[in-house]
Amino acid sequence: MTTARLTLNLDALVTNWRNLDALTNCETAAVVKANGYGLDAGRVGKALAKAGARNFFVAIAEEGVALRRAIGPGPGISVFAGHMEGDAKLLRDFQLTPMLNSLDQMLRHFESLPGHPFGVQLDTGMNRLGMEAAEWAAVRDIALSQGPVLLMSHLACSDASNHPMNAHQLQNFLDLTEGLDLPRSLAATGGLLLGRNYHFDLCRPGIGLYGGLPFGDALPVAQLDLPVIQIRSLDPGETVGYGNGWTAQRPSRIATVAAGYADGLHRALGSGQVQVYAGDTPCPVAGRVSMDLITVDVTDLSNDPSHLSILNERQTVDTLADAAGTIGYEILTSLGSRYARSYTG
Ligand SMILES: *Cc1c(COP(=O)(O)O)cnc(C)c1O
Repeated sequence: MTTARLTLNLDALVTNWRNLDALTNCETAAVVKANGYGLDAGRVGKALAKAGARNFFVAIAEEGVALRRAIGPGPGISVFAGHMEGDAKLLRDFQLTPMLNSLDQMLRHFESLPGHPFGVQLDTGMNRLGMEAAEWAAVRDIALSQGPVLLMSHLACSDASNHPMNAHQLQNFLDLTEGLDLPRSLAATGGLLLGRNYHFDLCRPGIGLYGGLPFGDALPVAQLDLPVIQIRSLDPGETVGYGNGWTAQRPSRIATVAAGYADGLHRALGSGQVQVYAGDTPCPVAGRVSMDLITVDVTDLSNDPSHLSILNERQTVDTLADAAGTIGYEILTSLGSRYARSYTG
């Protein structure tokens, strides 16, 4: 079979959730937007619900619908985009809780779905989503009369624990929610790791569940094994791949594996950037990553491998991210649809 295999370790996912939860005294929800950071929101949601997660967050209502179908009634599903035009039916039929972002959304929500649960997103300085102080002051009493289930905001710099923006946003959040006896949430993975002051009533980690930084103690969740389609011998001086990206300096063996940048293995991962593993043995990528294929120098292996692994315990999503000049989030969410996916645990 020439399909690369993406294996997701649901036990590791659950362990990451439990270990993050153990760092707090509050509820730990799970962010499963973008199809569970590319890893399958339904599977992730089912595994975490079984482990005890009671609340999930998605980006848009349609993601909430898919998640509800997968996990069934019971756990809460909240929508960061809030209540967008045309969402009322989905929010109602699939019991989704919009995190309202503006006065407009608030009016839309109270008019079309009176009595339906909602939360409120406040902007504490990121200037991306949520109500600013003046807007919140204007609508606060109306909002409170309708009983929001959560007041939330989001940190811009929580992956940098020393960044002064963290304390600044924390203070803004305290100011905006002072004296209100309502559940509050400020922290994603980074904020959770900043300590108790940032936890409030609910933390909402995403990337840490999936094995990514800033949760340095995360267990890897995704493993990627690439089948070897061909192995060839090269004489010194022969070249490999587009642009003659690699030249043999010695008699060499090159393995061609079936995955490329169309599968989310960014073109920036060419020669010198990452290794591909035969068991424990690292083998360098030779030349450029092409759309469907990667060439690997396996000269130093004593046998011909049938598979090589590019994502594993030794080489995490963050290693690939560093090499490609991006972040683990983008590596995960770029993993394509061509993989044969399997789940352990
Ligand atoms: C994506 C997101 C999260 C989760 O962030 P991680 O850094 O992946 O833990 C939490 N809250 C909001 C509003 C988000 O957009």
